[in-house]
Amino acid sequence: MNTLSEKLQAGLSHHQAGRLHEAESAYREVLQRAPDHADAWHLLGAVACQAGRVEESVEYLHRAIALSPDVGIFHNSLGNALQLLGRIDAAIDCYRRAVACQADLAEAHKNLGQTLSIARRFGEAAESFQQALKLRPDDPEVQRSLLNVALNEVVRTQRPPELPSVADSHAEGDVAGPPQTPDHAAAEPAARYDLVILVPYRDRLDHLRQFSSHMDRFFRGKLSFRIVVVEQAPGTPFNRGKLLNVGFRLHRDEAPVFALHDVDTLPQDESCDYRIADRPIHLAGRASKYGGQLPYPAFLGAVFVLRREHFEAANGFSNLYWGWGREDDEFARRLWASGITWENRPGRYQSLEHPPGDLSSRNDARLLEFLRGERDWRRDGLCSLDFEIIRSITLQEFLDAPMVAAHHQLITVDLGHPG
Ligand code: UDP
Ligand code: MN
Repeated sequence: MNTLSEKLQAGLSHHQAGRLHEAESAYREVLQRAPDHADAWHLLGAVACQAGRVEESVEYLHRAIALSPDVGIFHNSLGNALQLLGRIDAAIDCYRRAVACQADLAEAHKNLGQTLSIARRFGEAAESFQQALKLRPDDPEVQRSLLNVALNEVVRTQRPPELPSVADSHAEGDVAGPPQTPDHAAAEPAARYDLVILVPYRDRLDHLRQFSSHMDRFFRGKLSFRIVVVEQAPGTPFNRGKLLNVGFRLHRDEAPVFALHDVDTLPQDESCDYRIADRPIHLAGRASKYGGQLPYPAFLGAVFVLRREHFEAANGFSNLYWGWGREDDEFARRLWASGITWENRPGRYQSLEHPPGDLSSRNDARLLEFLRGERDWRRDGLCSLDFEIIRSITLQEFLDAPMVAAHHQLITVDLGHPG
């Protein structure tokens, strides 16, 4: 007959190989012979949780803890189960007990950080991720989480924190800087409009028609503005950030303020106020698509209004985000790294319907590169922009819509190729 520890070990091997049923039988056998075996209760709890029997697992984990109250990993597992049940505060307490029992339990620090950020306690979450990072300096998930919560904290408090791990370690003077941004203050050309609206665009004709006439109506008598649609030529994955860089580069002197505007997002009322003072504003906080709430606190997609200086301080967008999404998340961090925070002014917008973006081409890896400091944002953006103009026509002409004001423009550009 196997010893208890052999039986437990056999269960663990099944468990690690994903044979949950066999693992559970082995743990139960151990418990039949030794009902006070804390490790076996813990493992039975873990396996039940993994099998989706979360309520039941909580009971087993409590048994383990009652028998051995000072084992960090037991509290950590209970935290995981409670988190799954949506009992966030209770889970936080468990993770705190886990690290109190065992200060070097990186997993528990990380879980604590993640649960605190779910509870939107970003300051405390950042502390937990810092602890986790001390124990696991190379864990990319912890690095990314730390930056995320720190950024959310920035958005909440409007104070950029000092974070050593941002791509900021390059020596001063080593950086060329955007060549097109010398000190313009002396000879700034007079702007022609209050606002230039830059619209990254390809192949959404129906939206563009609605957008153009809607904007003319919406802004009538309010402020002077010009729509600049920057259309990407076919043949390469869509690159929203680079298109915005192109629009900005070509129209930089026409207005002091720019709106980076998705074509499918239409302002509804006075809550969509495009006038800004010193800080940029994110405006689309109450777009119908997001159910009246930001998808996440640091989100600045869909409609973002900023001054020329802000765009230039961030060196514009990265040119490297081919495919769907994440360019705006890097842009948020570029602003932040330049000491610029923004205001959320939740405007009511109608979101026009379209099929969802291709998640398989989501640019997560690009963003991660940036978060790890593997790419210097000051060398990629406005300062390294290259493109070719294929055509430039009025929007009126492009849409064959005499109702659309004659000064709006559409430029079609070849952005080159990825890689
Ligand atoms: N866009 C476009 N054609 C495309 C993809 C994107 O014109 O094939 C532009 C358009 O302005 C759109 C914006 O980029 O509103 C953001 O893309 P999308 O609406 O697909 O992003 P999501 O709504 O999924 O965040
Ligand atoms: Mn959209």
